[in-house]
Amino acid sequence: MLEIKNLTKYYGDLLAVDDVSFRVEEGQFATLLGPSGCGKSTTLHSIAGLIEATSGSVHLRGEDVSTVPPYERNIGLVFQHSALFPHMTVEENLRYGLKMQNFEGDYDAQIEKYLGMVQMLDHADHKPDELSGGQQRRISFARALVYEPDILLLDEPLTGLDRVLREDMRNEIRAIQREVDVTTLHVTHDQSEALSMSDKVIVMNEGRKEQEGHPSNLYERP
Ligand code: ADP
Ligand code: ADP
Repeated sequence: MLEIKNLTKYYGDLLAVDDVSFRVEEGQFATLLGPSGCGKSTTLHSIAGLIEATSGSVHLRGEDVSTVPPYERNIGLVFQHSALFPHMTVEENLRYGLKMQNFEGDYDAQIEKYLGMVQMLDHADHKPDELSGGQQRRISFARALVYEPDILLLDEPLTGLDRVLREDMRNEIRAIQREVDVTTLHVTHDQSEALSMSDKVIVMNEGRKEQEGHPSNLYERP
């Protein structure tokens, strides 16, 4: 479903991602795990088309999309501090997502379905600043999924939430991901989050892929 081949990214002289290759199978929830600065966000942003890799390629559904613009890749994004538009209601935020992706179909039905899935239907007319941090995070997920992307990219989606909420939301995210059956690549520096949520973990360090496997098969890290 998603395949990265020999991805390399330099920022000037700094080698941020060094010849990284991996695959994420259809419906899988995979996690890129590693310390801050190891190249996770750069990898994710290259997949989304938000930055141009120095070399290597990104394949979606068997097609090389390396030169396809971001909005034509049919990817859903939830980034750190994922900003909802503050002047729009929850419903308008989702409607905007559908419009930007040129979604063909019934907007009202999509909005109802995905707000229902994150249990926020009764908040459709609220503005983001009237919602709690956890509620805002749920809306960010609904906005990323409402146009039915082939791939969901999550960049530290639980950052900034308190510990108890983070643990609850791990389960919520996996439940929704299974329900929608969307292929997902998740980025975190939190080992316990990666091991508890993922079908596959890809461990990165200093720009390189160090290990890859099912959480139960990863050997101890030094
Ligand atoms: P994170 O919280 O993922 O570590 P950062 O704070 O490192 O994110 O990066 C935030 C933004 O700043 C990103 O868009 C990233 O590309 C950019 N950035 C990170 N490091 C540098 C740097 N050394 N020089 C310029 N921009 C950077
Ligand atoms: P991570 O997501 O694992 O924290 P990043 O991909 O954000 O790692 O960063 C990898 C390396 O690239 C870091 O050394 C970071 O400072 C650097 N970097 C990231 N974005 C930029 C940028 N826009 N310009 C220059 N250096 C950057």
